[in-house]
Amino acid sequence: MSIFEQKSRIGEYGRTGVLHTRAGDVPTPTFMPDGTRGAVKGLTPQQVVDTGVKVVLANTYHLHLQPGEAVIKELGGLHAFANRKGPLLTDSGGFQVFSLGEHVKITEDGVHFKDPKTGDKRFISPEKSMQIQLDLGADMIVAFDHLIGLGDETETEVKDAFDRTHRWLERCIVEFKRLTKDMDEAERPLLFGVVQGGLNLNLRKKSLEIVQESEVDGIAIGGLSVGETRAEMETVLKALAPLYRDDKPRFLLGVGTPEDLKIAVENGIDMLDCVLPTRNARHATVWTENSKKIHLTNEKYGVDSSVIDKTCNCYTCKNGFSKAFLRQMFKAGDPLGGALASIHNLRYMSRICEEYQKIV
Ligand SMILES: [Zn+2]
Repeated sequence: MSIFEQKSRIGEYGRTGVLHTRAGDVPTPTFMPDGTRGAVKGLTPQQVVDTGVKVVLANTYHLHLQPGEAVIKELGGLHAFANRKGPLLTDSGGFQVFSLGEHVKITEDGVHFKDPKTGDKRFISPEKSMQIQLDLGADMIVAFDHLIGLGDETETEVKDAFDRTHRWLERCIVEFKRLTKDMDEAERPLLFGVVQGGLNLNLRKKSLEIVQESEVDGIAIGGLSVGETRAEMETVLKALAPLYRDDKPRFLLGVGTPEDLKIAVENGIDMLDCVLPTRNARHATVWTENSKKIHLTNEKYGVDSSVIDKTCNCYTCKNGFSKAFLRQMFKAGDPLGGALASIHNLRYMSRICEEYQKIV
């Protein structure tokens, strides 16, 4: 059985499908919230499941620093540790490491950095990232790539990161095979290779060609949503859309407003993750009908008895939590406000995905 079964088309390049993972099947397109330290902030695993979310993403970097993969492995892996029953995906740790800016030293071997909390020296290489992610026990893992922030790099720097990303991918594949050689095919996690190349369309296309012909289970598109405009992101996604193979899932890293989700899905993306829906929610910002953003702390909601979105069937809207009550929670600093708003925003993203999944 192939890892990804394509079902129907969404426009010219989009598609619905089913992704098979060892922790269960995932209908696509699918939005994956970030459970940074093993949990989606402020929500119980059941509350997350109830929003329709099928996959949770956890951050390798954060879990590596605290409590460390050895502790999580000893406690039975991330599923047992965090009481997560469905599929889990971990990122490579690269995004957070490269985001540390001046405290990072990149060599061909890997990346040296300092733990921002303790000042301890740390090192992550392609091999180390594979080992950490396998110890964490995620069902889908991502190759360690050389991320660049967009905009101020020279062409040489972009090309350099591009070439290193593919050399590192080969090292990830070798290490992944070594570490999983005793696993049955059915119990092996899926490995995603990362496509880089900044906003240079030729490099992007070349990177996609290299990654999807490598021994990876899925394709991840990295280096977008790091400061470029929506139009620039769309240009890259449109350039790649006609070039994907049908048999591998495509994951767009770190993209997640309702508008971006639609652009991505219509250009062939199956899976997306982002901190935005839950981070926004914790800051009282929620989406309502037609992707309109509202701020629940706004004074005008003080006596508003209506729910966030009357068309929404999330726990928060369905049970009649009014904007006035939610505003009161945020004003009082009660974390219930953030939890109820997070439930709504996650359901909001899931509903968009479910609408696509209905296309036959
Ligand atoms: Zn709702």
